[in-house]
Amino acid sequence: MPIHPEAPVTCHACDAEIEGEPAGHGMLLFVRGDDVLREELPLCERCALAVSMTALDRLGFEEEEG
Ligand SMILES: [Zn+2]
Repeated sequence: MPIHPEAPVTCHACDAEIEGEPAGHGMLLFVRGDDVLREELPLCERCALAVSMTALDRLGFEEEEG
């Protein structure tokens, strides 16, 4: 059982409150000396989509939209 009181999960990008499970996660990398820390940040559906589309765009995929 979680000890923490239930805190609302908010989107890291737009600060919107997220109901239920976050639609996606943004990944942050911190470099500390020789260590690399990874932190996952919750994103709402909208921002998760935007991030994934940006990633796809970077990879050179073309997304067809109707
Ligand atoms: Zn968002």
